[in-house]
Amino acid sequence: MKIIADMHTHTIASTHAYGTVNEMVRQAADIGLYAIGITDHGPAMPGCPREWYFNNFAAIPSTYLGVRVLMGAEANITDFDGNLDLPKENLDRLEWIVASLHLPTLDMSIIKPTIETCTALYLNAAENPYINVIGHSDSPFFAYDYEKVIPVFAEKGKLVEINDATFKRKRDCVENCIRIAKICKKVGAPVIVNTDAHFMTDLGKAEGSLRMLEEINFPEELVVNSPVERFEKYLTEHNLPLRQL
Ligand SMILES: [Zn+2]
Ligand SMILES: [Zn+2]
Repeated sequence: MKIIADMHTHTIASTHAYGTVNEMVRQAADIGLYAIGITDHGPAMPGCPREWYFNNFAAIPSTYLGVRVLMGAEANITDFDGNLDLPKENLDRLEWIVASLHLPTLDMSIIKPTIETCTALYLNAAENPYINVIGHSDSPFFAYDYEKVIPVFAEKGKLVEINDATFKRKRDCVENCIRIAKICKKVGAPVIVNTDAHFMTDLGKAEGSLRMLEEINFPEELVVNSPVERFEKYLTEHNLPLRQL
């Protein structure tokens, strides 16, 4: 199995990533990817772009250097109700939305993360029509009731992300990632394998994730970004606000 689209990547706009859109797409072309999702962090993350950055993606071609380019965001889930840090005007126009929890952006002044509060948070996120992907939900700090929530993700059309950063540099998340993948397999929940690349050289390299999926005999038909036809089917069926090809 190999991934044909890397749908969670960052550029210098995130200020802690180091490639331009041009460099990321060029790399995607060089390694033969069909598509790339550019998903810089939403404004709640320190140093990350404001709303207006996300409003001018019409300036970028939808296909560039032969690569399908989806311009989106990694929106921050900022409270335990599952709200995101981008306004409706942005969300209506973004082509691809990964929603993730990050320590610096979650308001923990009222509620602290527990299995119960994180379960409620993810059940709320599952109801958010804008979200395509539940990003790296394998953090032990934000553990939730996987058995309860993952079937709801599947039912609501949310892709569960297998994020390769877990295998490259977040070893404390590996165990939960495997548990999540096994439950996805059991309940037939579609997943997406992404690199979360913060530099060009990481793009498309998801060997750790793919090896883990192979080891648990994960059914390839549940991996949305392999092959092209399955990925295209997802885009068509989910009625995304895609720019014209
Ligand atoms: Zn993230
Ligand atoms: Zn990211």
